[in-house]
Amino acid sequence: MTSARATSLLAAAALFVASCAQTGNIQKIEPGERPTIESDEAGLWMQMDRVEEDLQTSGKVVTDPDLNAYVREILCQLDTSYCADVRTYIVRNADFNASMAPNGVMIVWTGIILRAQNEAQLASVLGHELAHYIDRHSLKRWREIRSTTDAAVFFTFATGGIVGILAGFAAYDSIMSFSRDMEREADTRGLTMMRESGFDPRESAKIWQQLIEERDASDEPEKKSAFFSTHPAAKERSETLAKLAEETDNTGTTIGRERHAAVTAPFRRDWLLDELRQRDYGRFEVLLNQLIEAGMEDGELLFYRGEMHRLRGEDDDAEKAIAAYTAATGSGNAPAETYRSLGLMQWSAGRTTEARAAFETYLAAQQDAEDRAMIEHYLQQMQ
Ligand SMILES: [Zn+2]
Repeated sequence: MTSARATSLLAAAALFVASCAQTGNIQKIEPGERPTIESDEAGLWMQMDRVEEDLQTSGKVVTDPDLNAYVREILCQLDTSYCADVRTYIVRNADFNASMAPNGVMIVWTGIILRAQNEAQLASVLGHELAHYIDRHSLKRWREIRSTTDAAVFFTFATGGIVGILAGFAAYDSIMSFSRDMEREADTRGLTMMRESGFDPRESAKIWQQLIEERDASDEPEKKSAFFSTHPAAKERSETLAKLAEETDNTGTTIGRERHAAVTAPFRRDWLLDELRQRDYGRFEVLLNQLIEAGMEDGELLFYRGEMHRLRGEDDDAEKAIAAYTAATGSGNAPAETYRSLGLMQWSAGRTTEARAAFETYLAAQQDAEDRAMIEHYLQQMQ
């Protein structure tokens, strides 16, 4: 380890010489390191400590212990030495985003955990964010803009920034976002961490590719997601990551699809509903197809495919909804609500017998259904 350490010190020294002209003396942060009091870095940390307090009481943080333990386990596997310095917060938000604050606050939106198809894909996101911390990118960003008019905005967002962080405000993103060089640096370090900690680095390019497919299918392609506004050139990036992943034979092999599917199963329904409520049906359909192909529990996904068609209500959506619900009921793991939605669609298509059967199955499966009186009323109307 001594020679590796010497090599990394030499590399750090070289990086220092290369970067000091632009950003001053900024080296990577060491495990356990804290900024010296009265430095500008300490100021940044203090601002973010306040944001962290707001975050803790925002009601937006997912506190489930198993899910949090899972995310932390992957983070700590990526690099045990920084594990204690980084605090992960899972925030309930359908969009795909994650952020890293200088004081070690890593925010991961549920939209990322929903879209990651396995442990390795989640590790690629966490590794990328951890790399921003290790390479002190917030401090670099701050020193780049501190003499510009953006500096005031930077601090306004850092002090009152919890709203911006939770909503992914465009202004917040443009001020707080890292440069393309920093993003590349984070990609490279993140990929190295994945490889060295046993995760298959080829999954990194795949998650970007999945996002590109979603974006291309979006009903509102001009409305950028928070992710695409802070991470430009997704295509180039996916290709670079794929190439980097192939360039070594000393590589991790863990993908971890089954475990990821099992840990996220209790939450997937709520997160899919968050996504459906965005009403970007083109994007939602692609996401559902990706998750079905990835082998996630299909009854739930087919139910949501039906819901997507039912809510969109164009041309042949009614029949497509019925087909999706019917497929869901054949999967053996469809949620009970599938039968309620199927009943509604069959009824409005004039198929009373099928509608009645579906409603009766729903009431039998959902003994404590809140809408029981209403469904019973529908059944009476069909007499
Ligand atoms: Zn980044």
